[in-house]
Amino acid sequence: MCEVYESCMKELEASIPVYIKKIGNFMWKNKSWHITDHYRIPDNQSLIQCQVCEKAWIREVFEITNVEGKTIVVGNECIYNVTNEKIGAYYKNYSRHKENLIKNKVVLHNIDVIIKTWSNCYYRFHYERKDYEKFKKMLKRLCIGLNLTKTQQETYMRYHEKLPKLDIKNVTEDD
Ligand SMILES: [Zn+2]
Repeated sequence: MCEVYESCMKELEASIPVYIKKIGNFMWKNKSWHITDHYRIPDNQSLIQCQVCEKAWIREVFEITNVEGKTIVVGNECIYNVTNEKIGAYYKNYSRHKENLIKNKVVLHNIDVIIKTWSNCYYRFHYERKDYEKFKKMLKRLCIGLNLTKTQQETYMRYHEKLPKLDIKNVTEDD
């Protein structure tokens, strides 16, 4: 388990309900609706059918409720059509950021180790002081699901060669 990765992912996932609350009510089929829940069906459970298109089998579920209290489940494709472009755009960004975060897990972990061992006298010898702030910026960027810039990548690669000298746990994609 990689702690910094877990906490970044938790924060990213928590941003959805916060955003959903902000959307408020929307009109669909001449009725006012709002999103009442958003969840993912666990991989070992069977999918359910989207009640808007009545075609798609969905894992990512939005639950919407209208003024009369009727509740239906909607997939992440149809939710764009019934709500508005805003949530569509937001959700696409969210998915992209999540993919980035998963992809950058090892780099995130290594940068966290670099920052945490910075003040250690032994390792400080290998570091340039001015890069400390750079690494903190990189960590923030990766944590919200952005990729490193080209310059940041170059800085990271310079340090990456020194990483074997540190006591770094090997983080694999599936741990
Ligand atoms: Zn659908």
